[in-house]
Amino acid sequence: MHPDIAEVAGWLDAARRVTVLTGAGISTDSGIPDFRGPQGVWTKDPKAERLATLQAYMSDAGLRRDAWRLRLEHPAWTAEPGPGHRALAALEAKERLHHLITQNIDGLHQKAGTSPEILIEIHGTIREVVCMSCGERAAMEKALERVRAGEDDPACRSCGGILKSATISFGQNLVPEDLERASRASEGCDLFLAIGSSLVVYPVAYLPKIALGAGARLVIVNAEPTPYDSQADAAFHAPIAEVLPALVGLS
Ligand code: NAD
Repeated sequence: MHPDIAEVAGWLDAARRVTVLTGAGISTDSGIPDFRGPQGVWTKDPKAERLATLQAYMSDAGLRRDAWRLRLEHPAWTAEPGPGHRALAALEAKERLHHLITQNIDGLHQKAGTSPEILIEIHGTIREVVCMSCGERAAMEKALERVRAGEDDPACRSCGGILKSATISFGQNLVPEDLERASRASEGCDLFLAIGSSLVVYPVAYLPKIALGAGARLVIVNAEPTPYDSQADAAFHAPIAEVLPALVGLS
C-alpha cells in the first residue's frame, strides 16, 4: 500500500495532534548543505566531522580557529527560508501543527514564522555562543565581530573560557528539558511527520520509534531511504519542495 499525497493530506487534516521532526534536508533548498546527502559536507569531506566533535574542539586550538573561520562564512547568515519551512509555518497557521522538533541549527524555521512556543531546537542554535566553562550565552554576531577584528579564537569575556556555538556537538549531551519535551511531543501525537532527515543521529532517531510505540501514524519525506521506511505508513522519496507544499495544501 502506497498512499498518495492527497490521502496523507487528509490524515494531516484529521489528526488530533501533529508533531513534525525536521533535519538538514529541509534547508538544502536555502543553500545550506546537509551532512549525509549526496552533496553533504561529510559525504564530500569525511574529516569535517571532527569539527563537530566536542573533545576535538576543546583540545585542539587549531581546529577551533578553523571552526571560527567557517562560522564567519556560514550560509545561515544570508539564507532565506525555503518552501519546506514556509509550508510548516502555513501548517501552524492552519492550527494543524502542534510541535516542531528540528535538528537544524540555522534558525530558518523561526525566520519562516514558526512560533517559538511550538519549536524545539534539539541540537541548539548557531545564532548564539556558549562559554564551555561558565555557561554564559551571548549573541554569535558579537563573537563574529571579534573574529573579524582579528581574534582568531575569542575567549569568554567573563571567565576566559572556550567559546563554542550553542549547538550540540558529537560527544555532548542534549539539553535534558529539550529531549524531554521532544519525547513528550512524540508520545502525545497521532501523526508524526519526519522531513529531510536521514534518521540516523541518536537520540533524536528514537523519536519516530516513540511515536510508533504510542500508536501514531509515521510519515516520512526524504530524498533517500531511511531506516524507518518499512515501518512508516507513508514514505515519499522526493524533493521536499514538491511534497510538503502539496501536503499542506499550498500547491
Ligand atoms: P542528514 O545530513 O543526515 O540527512 C539529510 C537528509 O535529507 C538526507 O538523507 C538527504 O537525502 C535528505 N535531503 C536533502 N535535501 C533534500 C531535499 N531537498 N528534499 C528531500 N530530501 C532531502 O541530516 P540530519 O538527519 O538532520 O542529521 C544531520 C545533523 O547535522 C543534524 O543533527 C543537524 O543538527 C546537523 N546539520 C544541520 C544543518 C542545518 O542547520 N541546516 C545542516 C547540516 C547538518
